[in-house]
Amino acid sequence: MSSVAALPERLLLGSGPSPVPERVLRALAQPTIGHLDPAFGALMDEVAAGLRTVFGTENRVAIPVSGTGSAGMEAMVANFVRPGDRVVCGVHGLFGERMADELARHGADVVRVEAEWGRALDREALTAAVAAGDTAALFVVHAETSTGVAQPLDGLADACREAGALFLLDCVTSLAGHPLSLDESGVDAAFSGTQKCLNAPPGLAPFTANARALERVDDGRVGSWYFDLSLVLAYWRDADGAGGDAGKPARAYHHTAPINLIYALAEALEIVQEEGLDARWKRHATAHETLRRALAELGFERLAPEGEQLHPLLAVRVPEGVDEAEVRTALLTEDGIEISGGLGPLAGKVWRIGVMGEGARAEAQHRLVVALAKRLGQPSTAALAALADGWR
Ligand SMILES: *Cc1c(COP(=O)(O)O)cnc(C)c1O
Repeated sequence: MSSVAALPERLLLGSGPSPVPERVLRALAQPTIGHLDPAFGALMDEVAAGLRTVFGTENRVAIPVSGTGSAGMEAMVANFVRPGDRVVCGVHGLFGERMADELARHGADVVRVEAEWGRALDREALTAAVAAGDTAALFVVHAETSTGVAQPLDGLADACREAGALFLLDCVTSLAGHPLSLDESGVDAAFSGTQKCLNAPPGLAPFTANARALERVDDGRVGSWYFDLSLVLAYWRDADGAGGDAGKPARAYHHTAPINLIYALAEALEIVQEEGLDARWKRHATAHETLRRALAELGFERLAPEGEQLHPLLAVRVPEGVDEAEVRTALLTEDGIEISGGLGPLAGKVWRIGVMGEGARAEAQHRLVVALAKRLGQPSTAALAALADGWR
């Protein structure tokens, strides 16, 4: 017997993974069937349709890339960026920084547009950078999980269209938690992850691309075998939205799909569907604002200014005199609640609290606030009143 059975229970209120509902865990534990079994094919179609809904797109291609969110990033760059391409990359936190690194490794000419960690990128600066050269693509992070900032997307697609550039998006933490419609925002390709607002285990990267982006794949110069969409889509054929079985070639083996993870994703997407995307976004907005007010009663101020906040991730400044690492460790080991510390320039200065899916609920927040007040030796009355008021 491995130690799996002895693992502790945790309330996951950090930057991800997020709480996985019982229903999703049960789906994950269903018997494994073959990746070419027609019964599995039907499930793949269901997943593709569910992904289109949460992405807000009618793109034919909507698939879970096999690998974590970062694999979605690799797939995006491998398929849509060629060595020497001029790519404008917004950097206002760890994940923009990661993309700039990935693009440089891929031989792109990376033009960085930066903002202070904790602020959104300036739209004029982005559009001016796109217009300033022969730009192949603009990349931005919609939801900076390292800072809790949501990047406004308006105006960016127009600048890209004018320049003949692709508009590429990381929506790992916003998908199914913060308002987003890829088609309305004119995004050409995007990737996400399953362990943030979808509440599935980590290991898949929801991915979508429109026809404009897929044209780039046709040049036969995709520098990755594993992520080459022209090969991957021969397996995910029905996810190309062609519809019906008539005359369609069978799914071709490329790599063995992470079958059980796809069961889990299917169930997670079904849960989103049942709640409704609009209702889910509203619940995340309420949960964010309610927790912000409760934590303000305990002396914590949000990092992001009003208007730039990302609902699924609340980053707060840790007040002077609080040993952030000690409190965070006690919350985990004594209270069984995980929250995340700061990264990069914010290490030791902020906490990042997940407000993702099942983590965006009154009961979860109540547990956190009670435990935190106790650890800080503060009365919890005002904070709990703020919670009760926000969830009323
Ligand atoms: C979590 C995250 C990623 C990376 O996902 P992994 O699953 O850890 O590979 C990328 N971008 C953002 C914004 C994220 O929050």
